[in-house]
Amino acid sequence: MRYFFSPLVSAFTIALTACSGEASHTTTATAHYLANEGVMVVRGDTKVVFDPLFENSYGQYQLPPVEMRAALFAGLPPYDGVDAVFISHYHGDHFSPSEMLQFLKAQTAFKLVAPAQAVEALRKIASADDAKLFERVVPVALAYGDAPIVIEFGGLLIEAVRIPHSGWPASRTDVQNIAFRVTLDNQVTVLHMGDADTKDVHFDRDPEHWAKRQTHMAFPPYWYFLDPVGRDILDHRLTPLHSVGVHVPEAMPDDPAQRPSEIQGFDLFTEPGETRPIPTSDQE
Ligand SMILES: [Zn+2]
Ligand SMILES: [Zn+2]
Repeated sequence: MRYFFSPLVSAFTIALTACSGEASHTTTATAHYLANEGVMVVRGDTKVVFDPLFENSYGQYQLPPVEMRAALFAGLPPYDGVDAVFISHYHGDHFSPSEMLQFLKAQTAFKLVAPAQAVEALRKIASADDAKLFERVVPVALAYGDAPIVIEFGGLLIEAVRIPHSGWPASRTDVQNIAFRVTLDNQVTVLHMGDADTKDVHFDRDPEHWAKRQTHMAFPPYWYFLDPVGRDILDHRLTPLHSVGVHVPEAMPDDPAQRPSEIQGFDLFTEPGETRPIPTSDQE
């Protein structure tokens, strides 16, 4: 599984870097980076986490640091009081069934929303004693082309749609990759895309879904920035106020000037624990 630097060149990169995140926006929410595509979004007392626990780096992605993982399991700040955990898809760099089973036991308040494929893997390793845990698990069963589904609980509005995994249609078409658009307290909307493929056809099929509400912050896999079609999807279909790229290989230089030219103008999450304020109004 290699998503490394592709030799795509574009002059439009700079035009897409809308918000710097430090301007005069009224910020009421924050995104916290875990590792790979792991992100926590906090607004007041409402907290959601995407793809937090996984065990496989495939030799090129970051794993959550040991202390961060321990804090998650112990429910220590800033990871206390998590309301929902989302899993984008069942790949080893996004989801570990055994770690999630432990996490469900360690923290008893959150709900888990995950593709049916991931829930099935969880059930496979669960014992009869774990049956009650599954009352907190919401499986998302979506085929490619299905209308988005809406789930609501505890101040969260969740809109889930299946977007094929990167590589479509040649490979990994069996992987249930889910893009979650989550609105917290009717105030802040974020979009986590998993390992979404960058073809426009996936988004062109349902423009109403994407236009339905403003996404304040999107977390596209960083290959959306490398691919002109991916940049176009962000700019014209998903239209978040700000995007922070995730799934960045560990080998990505810290110095933006050393990065591939087509992504130099984009914001990336690269350091576990770093944060971004989420802009909620489109000023300037
Ligand atoms: Zn994947
Ligand atoms: Zn991945």
